Amino acid sequence: MYRPVNHGYIEVVIGPMYSGKSEELIRRIKRARIAKQNIVVFKPKIDNRYSVEDVVSHSGDSVNAIPINSAKEIYNFIDSKTQVVGIDEVQFFDEEIVEIAMDLADKGIRVIAAGLDMDFKGEPFGPTPNLLAVAEFVDKIQAICSVCGQPANRSQRLINGEPARYDDPIIQVGAVESYEARCRKCHVVYK
Ligand code: ADP
Ligand code: ZN
Repeated sequence: MYRPVNHGYIEVVIGPMYSGKSEELIRRIKRARIAKQNIVVFKPKIDNRYSVEDVVSHSGDSVNAIPINSAKEIYNFIDSKTQVVGIDEVQFFDEEIVEIAMDLADKGIRVIAAGLDMDFKGEPFGPTPNLLAVAEFVDKIQAICSVCGQPANRSQRLINGEPARYDDPIIQVGAVESYEARCRKCHVVYK
């Protein structure tokens, strides 16, 4: 892939859950580290999946990350030496992340963001669509459908093992919520 070398740019890695977004972000960060780049990685504080201080993939690979509540906190952790900014679970940030990613790229920083492009309903998720629009590079990756084994681009939300309804509240007391990757054909959202 052609990469500009004398100015900043935005790369986005999108796909459903389990598609390997974190894995890909981690791979790019590790390569930047080999290149002795000055790197800072961020993640939203709400993602406590495995670790507060790391980005961890479902396969167990990890890199250090700073948990932040809002996009503008990024400025507290970067300086004129920063060359690469990684952002995981970018869909959970406020819309301001788009402007900030643009500003960082304008300052000469390579911004690598990974996140969900769609929510469990199959609708565009948070700031991700607008970030895609302004990014130089977008990689849309697929998981494997848990039902049929075909490439999966959607995240299936299950409540007590059954497909969630469109209007089901985000967190239900006493319910067991889980997610799996599914293709267009096997993805179910009851209205
Ligand atoms: P994401 O950040 O997109 O949720 P991760 O990078 O955390 O994904 O995890 C990707 C890894 O998840 C894969 O390399 C594989 O080991 C594992 N995995 C588990 N379920 C699936 C699935 N249905 N499709 C693809 N990979 C899966
Ligand atoms: Zn399927």
